[in-house]
Amino acid sequence: MPNTPPAELHFAAQWIMDEYPACTEGLSFLRQLSEDAPRLYAIAERYGFCDPPDEELRVHPLWHAFLDHFANCSDCNEV
Ligand SMILES: [Zn+2]
Repeated sequence: MPNTPPAELHFAAQWIMDEYPACTEGLSFLRQLSEDAPRLYAIAERYGFCDPPDEELRVHPLWHAFLDHFANCSDCNEV
């Protein structure tokens, strides 16, 4: 991953390369969410970042940013 800031690498290190839930850009939204709302991030993680049934998470702007990115990103959808 060229030009990836250390914080992104550290965050991404929790996954094995083949199991990243998103591309580097998508992961950066998840990282921001994990810092801004760790409790909501934990819920999203528990549901594999796929349609978590939590109203508070569903209206969180960073979760929306992630979903918007994910829906339109060919890198994410390749995974
Ligand atoms: Zn992506």
